Order: sequence, then structure tokens, then C-alpha cells
Amino acid sequence: MRITRVQVFTYDAAYRDGVYGISGGRAASSQRSLVVRIDTDRGITGWGEICPHGRTYLPSFFEGELAALGVLAPALIGQDPRNLGAVGRIMDHQLLANNPAKAALDSACWDIFGKVVDLPVSELLGGRLTDTLPLFTSLPVAGAETQARHAVDELRAGFRVFQVKVGDDPVEDSDRVRAVVDAVGPNCTVLVDANGGWTLTSALIAANRLADLPVRLEQPCRSMADCAELRAHTNLPLILDESVVTFADLVHARHVVGATGINLKPSRVGGLTKARLMRDAAQALGMTFTVDDTWGSSLATAQIAAVGAGAQPELLTGVTNFATVTTPQLGAGVDQLQGGRSTVPTASGLGVDIDAERFTDALVDTAACIQSPRG
Ligand SMILES: [Mg+2]
Repeated sequence: MRITRVQVFTYDAAYRDGVYGISGGRAASSQRSLVVRIDTDRGITGWGEICPHGRTYLPSFFEGELAALGVLAPALIGQDPRNLGAVGRIMDHQLLANNPAKAALDSACWDIFGKVVDLPVSELLGGRLTDTLPLFTSLPVAGAETQARHAVDELRAGFRVFQVKVGDDPVEDSDRVRAVVDAVGPNCTVLVDANGGWTLTSALIAANRLADLPVRLEQPCRSMADCAELRAHTNLPLILDESVVTFADLVHARHVVGATGINLKPSRVGGLTKARLMRDAAQALGMTFTVDDTWGSSLATAQIAAVGAGAQPELLTGVTNFATVTTPQLGAGVDQLQGGRSTVPTASGLGVDIDAERFTDALVDTAACIQSPRG
């Protein structure tokens, strides 16, 4: 089985509730997503999605990942998409960086693999330990009253895990977190996500003000060194997100920084193949984790679900369902249930029925540069 053609498309994934803001004034009403389509000589098509979050959330950004896809796509022509180890090795030999671009291609290959053997990707990634996944909901930066009201709306919708976006003024931030904790009550989990926006000074002030609350801090400072210094001065559990890119980062986070949890994003770590490794390693290290991604639609959500379904339920804090917070959707796949949970696709591959008619104008198309693809 050979890859005969790779195409890259784009669309705007809009936030359901208007503007989505995180620390440092990083705010947008939509993000440009990149959707990869891989065709094979057996007539089976795979799809993958990555959606960078602006240009200053991670080193990754839309134009950079698009350029990387233009380099990576031709290198995969003629390769067997089921041989994920070889696919990953070829991509890593092409580019040192650009994990999201690699992730989109990796996901599309897993989608094909699942369709070939008629199994959901979740089962190929180590098995499915649950049929439904707990969801967490993100509360973008806003005033205390607005965030608390948003939290109550989501509580009524069934959510029990809340990620409060903070990371600017530590006094205002801690007041907003307290308002959310008061609003949702003691039976919920509250993650305080600064997205690296606090200086160490601000993080220390916030941590002191939050010391009596049952909350967890997520990526309080940009660097691992500052997060480690903060961890030495607070008893609040620490989750790392943006800092953990490689397997070595994960081990460092656990044993040097003292993090007890991570936010695992398949696009950040290079795809489903590497996300599986990180998931299993985090579990072996006894860490809790959320499975998430930078942004996207139903396809990104299915990729998240494929990783989350194999997680040990007692260590999985929650997953994201972009299918309910962004528009448009690319196809049915993951459904949100009552009680703040979502389904795990059971159809073969990633389980999303992509509306291919939506994607006609490719930004990258190997058919334009490969004259005679191998059959
Ligand atoms: Mg985060």
C-alpha cells in the first residue's frame, strides 16, 4: 500500500462564544486550521487536522506549519501509511521542528491504517479502556463575574472539570479563580491555567493567594526553571503544558520540576504516535493528564479521543471537545453526552465522516509536483 497524493486545505475554526482570550492579551474569534488529506493506491483516504493557536501561543504558527507541510508531503509519496514508524522517521529526517505539521500527517496515516484493518484508531493506540470520556471546559480570560457565570452555565450543562484562564495580574487572577471555585462548588476540579503568562513574582503572589483552594496550577510561568522554583514554594499541584514537547521534557517535568500532571496535545508532541508514548509514560510516572489540542474541529476532537480512550480513567482529568465550541464542524464523529462526557468513535479509522466536498482548493498538492506517483 502506497501514498499517492497529499493535499493540505484550510478553513477558519470560529469560537462559539465570540472572542477566546488567554494571558498577555492573546485573543481571537477564530483560528486558521490546516487539514491534511492523504490518498493511497488502494482508494483509501485518510484525514488529519492541526490548528495552531495564533502566533505566540507556541513557537508553531499557521504559515510556518503550512511551509513545513510543503516540505514533508512530497517526502511521504510512495511510503506505506501503515508503517507509522517509518513515516515518523522520514519526517524527523526532513525537519527538526514543526511537530504540528508532522502530527497532521501522522494522524491521517493512522486514519488510513484504521480503515484498512476496520478498527478505530483508539484500539490501535493501545486499546480502549472506556466508552465515554470526561470533558473539561475552558473559561477564557474575563472578569470574575463573567467567568463565574460562564462556569455555572457549563456546570448546568454537566461539566465537572473547569480550566480557568489567568496569567496577567495575580491579584485579579486569584480573585477570579476564587469566584469560579465558589460558583461550581467543592465537587469539581479547577485548573488554573496561566499559559506561561506569569513572571515568577506574579506566580508566587497568585499561589499564596490560592493556597487554601483545591485547585491545580497549569503552566504558571514560561520556563521550566521558573515553574520548578514556584513548585518549591507552593503545595498546589503543578501541571505543565507548553513546556512538555519531548519525552525528555516529560521526565524532567516529573522528576526535576515536580509536576504531577501534564496537558497532552497531540499536535505539540508530533502526532498520535508520540502522544501515545507520552500518555503511557505519564501513566507509568503516576501523573494525571488532560488530553487537549491547540484548536480545531471535529477531526482534532477525534484525534484527542483516540488518545484519551486508552488512558487509565483514574489518571485522566478530562479531554477537550472542540466539536461543541467551534464552528464549522468537518463531519460527525465525537458526540457530547449529558453529564459532561463525550463518546469515543467506534467507526474505523478516526471515525469522522469528513465532508470532502468542503475541501477543493488545496494550499499544498503533491500532484502538482510529483509527475508519476508509485502505484
Ligand atoms: Mg494549558
